[in-house]
Amino acid sequence: MRDEWREVVLGLGSNLGDSIVILQGAVHDLAAVEGLEVTASSAVFETDPVGGPEQPMFLNAVLLGRTTLRNHELLAAGQEVEQHWQRTRDVRWGPRTLDVDIIAMGDERADDPDLTIPHRLAHERPFVLVPWLAVDPEAELIGWGSVAALLHDLDASGVRPTDLRLDVPAPGEDHDA
Ligand code: ADP
Ligand code: MG
Repeated sequence: MRDEWREVVLGLGSNLGDSIVILQGAVHDLAAVEGLEVTASSAVFETDPVGGPEQPMFLNAVLLGRTTLRNHELLAAGQEVEQHWQRTRDVRWGPRTLDVDIIAMGDERADDPDLTIPHRLAHERPFVLVPWLAVDPEAELIGWGSVAALLHDLDASGVRPTDLRLDVPAPGEDHDA
């Protein structure tokens, strides 16, 4: 049903280029997507890279919002924003200007080759869970329970708070991507 708004949780990451500018730009781009509202952003966290080649530290943040889009439409919207910031996909888990991940989407579950919801690694990624808990202390990951409890069992020492904040545009503000 197209008109139904569902809550979404989006994970953002960047470790190439001017990451804070890119993350802020991504928030504006996502907020401008028809059928997607961004309601809140976590602070920005600095995180040690996990897996992949040796690479710079990441900046990560988690956005809360709501959407009338279907899951693949939201994936496409996120990928368009990634492309706007010139993400290339040369190296798996390698450095990237921008990563936009769908962490969760209401009670949606998807297990398609190109889309898993909830995100299949969210439950074990402190760089997702720490910012998410920071913006929503009650956060629950569908199928996994409370984010606070998940973090209790993870080593989150690679995720450090910063003073950086992302501005969330008011609904209707700035509607050109
Ligand atoms: P990661 O985000 O795991 O570091 P990528 O961003 O390179 O890696 O993602 C690779 C692929 O993951 C994308 O092409 C996309 O089709 C797929 N994917 C599966 N589930 C999701 C999801 N929930 N959110 C975003 N991408 C997803
Ligand atoms: Mg991704």
